[in-house]
Amino acid sequence: LLAAHTTTHLHTDEPSESLASTTEDITVQIKETTSSWWRIIKLGKKEWKYYIVAFICLLIAALTEMFQPYFSGHIISSVVDNNWHNFVTNIFWYLGLSFVYVITSGLRGFIFSITSTNLIQRLRNRFFAAVLKQDIEFFDQNKTGEITSRLSSDITTVGEAISINLNIFLRSIVQTVGTVVMMLVLSWNLFLLVMITGPLTCGTAKLYGDFIGKQQKKVQDALADANSLAEEAISTIRTVKSFANEDEEVRLLRLKNDLVRKHSIRQALYYFGYMWNGQILIVFLNLGTLAYGGHLVMNNRLSVPSFVSFILYQQRLGDVLDSINGVYTGLMKASGASLKLFEHMDRIPKVLNNGMVKSNNFQGRIEFRNVSFAYPNRKNDRVLKNISFTVEPGQQVALVGPSGSGKTTCIGLLEHFYEADQGQILIDNIPVQEYDYKFYHEKISLVSQEPVLHARSIRDNIQYGLLETKSQHDIEHAAQMANAHSFISQFEKKYDTECGERGVQMAGGQKQRIALARALIRSPNVLLLDEATSALDAEAESQVQEAIARTVIGRTVLIIAHRLSTVRNADRILVLRHGEIVEEGTHVELMSKRGLYYQLVKRQIEQHEADIKGQ
Ligand code: ADP
Ligand code: MG
Repeated sequence: LLAAHTTTHLHTDEPSESLASTTEDITVQIKETTSSWWRIIKLGKKEWKYYIVAFICLLIAALTEMFQPYFSGHIISSVVDNNWHNFVTNIFWYLGLSFVYVITSGLRGFIFSITSTNLIQRLRNRFFAAVLKQDIEFFDQNKTGEITSRLSSDITTVGEAISINLNIFLRSIVQTVGTVVMMLVLSWNLFLLVMITGPLTCGTAKLYGDFIGKQQKKVQDALADANSLAEEAISTIRTVKSFANEDEEVRLLRLKNDLVRKHSIRQALYYFGYMWNGQILIVFLNLGTLAYGGHLVMNNRLSVPSFVSFILYQQRLGDVLDSINGVYTGLMKASGASLKLFEHMDRIPKVLNNGMVKSNNFQGRIEFRNVSFAYPNRKNDRVLKNISFTVEPGQQVALVGPSGSGKTTCIGLLEHFYEADQGQILIDNIPVQEYDYKFYHEKISLVSQEPVLHARSIRDNIQYGLLETKSQHDIEHAAQMANAHSFISQFEKKYDTECGERGVQMAGGQKQRIALARALIRSPNVLLLDEATSALDAEAESQVQEAIARTVIGRTVLIIAHRLSTVRNADRILVLRHGEIVEEGTHVELMSKRGLYYQLVKRQIEQHEADIKGQ
C-alpha cells in the first residue's frame, strides 16, 4: 500500500507536493481515506433494517447462483452420457434456483437503491447545514461555486459509489467464499493452481485502485474550480456584459475544463492499464486450468462433470474478482470525493454562536473596548487599531471617515461575523458572543451597504428570519415606516411581487427600503445603518433618509454615512482613519476643531457647489 502511494506521489507533477513531506502525507492520506470510508458507511446506520433485508436477499441470491455452474456441469455431462432422466432433473433444479435468484437479487438491488437515495439526501442535508454554520471567514476563503459543486456532484459520486459498491462488495464476498468452497470440493489440485495467479490479480487491482482514487480527487477539485468560475460569471452576468467580457470568461472556463479533462484522461489511462493487466492474467489463468484439468481427466483423476463445473466456477471467480476490483476502485473514487466533503463538514467555525444570554431588559448600549482586528485572510493588515467608543441607549452615533478606514468592519464585528483579535465588544456590558444567537439578531438589525434580497416575494423578504409569520398589518406597518408601502402598492401583485435573485428585479432605492422594512419589522433596539443611502439618487435618497429619520427615534443607532450632511444631527460623530478614531464630537464641535472631519465636510461642500455651477 505504501509503495503504491509513493509511486503516485512521484507521478504527480505539481510543484506544491514536495518530496520531503511525502511520507507524512501518505500516512495522513491513508488514515483519512480509511476513516472517511467508515464515516460514509456509518451514515447509513439509520437504514440498518433495510440493510438486513437486503443482506438476506443477497445471501439467498448468491447461494442460488453458486449452484448454477454445478448443475450446468451435470446438464452438459448428462447430455454427453445421453441420460434423459438426469438431464430433466438437473434442468428443473437449475430453473428453480434461477427463479429464486432472479427474485432475490432484484429485491436486493431495489433496496440498495432506496438506501442510496436516502444516504445521498442525508449527506446533502448535513453538508448544507454544516456549511451554513461556518463563520464568514470560511466564505471569504471558499468560493460559492466550489461549495455548491461539492454539494451536488461530489455527494452524488460518494452516495452512488457507496451504495452500488456496497451492494456488489457484499455480494462478491459471499460469492467468492461459495465459489472457492465449491472449487475445493470439486478438485483441490486444480484449485491450488488457481491460488497462484489469483493474488496477483488482486494485487494489481489494489495498485490501480489507489491510483484511480487519488486521480478522482484531482478530477473533483478541478471540476469544483471550473464550476465556481461558471457560477461567478453567471451570477455577475450584468458586470460581465457591461465589460463585454463573455469571450474571456469562456476562455477561462475552457482552460479550467481542460484541466478537468487532463485529470480525467489520466484516470481513464489508469483504468485502461488495470483492465489490460487484469485481462492478461485471466487468460493465463484459464489456459493453465484447461491444460492441467485436461491432464487430470485423461488420467482418470477427475470426472468430466467436475471438470466442466470447475471451469465454470473458475470463470465465475474471475468475474467476481473483477467486480471486487471494480468495487475497490469505486470505493477509492468515493473516498477521494468524500475527503473534501468531510473536510468542510469537520471544520470547526472559529466564531461560535453558542451563547445563552437572553435579557429581558435589553437596552442596546454598545461598547467597543480596546478593539483590534485584522481579517483572518489578511492577518498582517490591522484594520482596527485599539478602538474604544460607546453608544448609549437611544443615542444616534455616526461613524464617518474615508473609504477603507474600517467602518463596515466595525459593523461586521457587531454582527459577530468575526471575532475581535483583542479587546471586547459589549452590548449592555455583556460580550456579544455570550448572547443567544437568535435573540441577539432580533434585537440588533442591520441595513447593509449592499443589501441583498432573496429570490422570494416582498412579503417573504420583509419577514425573513422571523420564526412566526407576521400579519399583513405588521408587514405593511414595517413597510410604511420604511417608506416602501406606496411603491409596493403600485405593483400588480403588491406584497407578493417577486424580488428576483439577490433582488435584481427591484430598483436600488426600492431594494434599500425593503431591506429597511426587513430590519424594522422585528422592532430592534439597535439599528445599524451602513451607508444605507449611498447608492441612491437624490430622490430615492431623500425617501430613504426620511424613513430613517422616522425610525431612529427611540432606538440606539449606529449610522455610517457617506453624505456627511445626513449625520449633522447625530448625537456624536466618530471620525475613523486607518482603523483609528482620530476625532470625536458633535458636528459643531468637530467643525470648530478644523481637523479631518472639517476637511471631509469642506470637500463635499465644494464638490456640491461645483455640481451646481456645472448644471
Ligand atoms: P469602510 O470604512 O469603507 O467601510 P471596510 O471596513 O469595509 O472600510 O474595510 C476596511 C479594510 O478592510 C479595507 O482595507 C478592506 O480592503 C479590508 N477588508 C474588508 N473586508 C475584507 C475581507 N472580507 N477580507 C479581508 N479584508 C477585508
Ligand atoms: Mg463600508
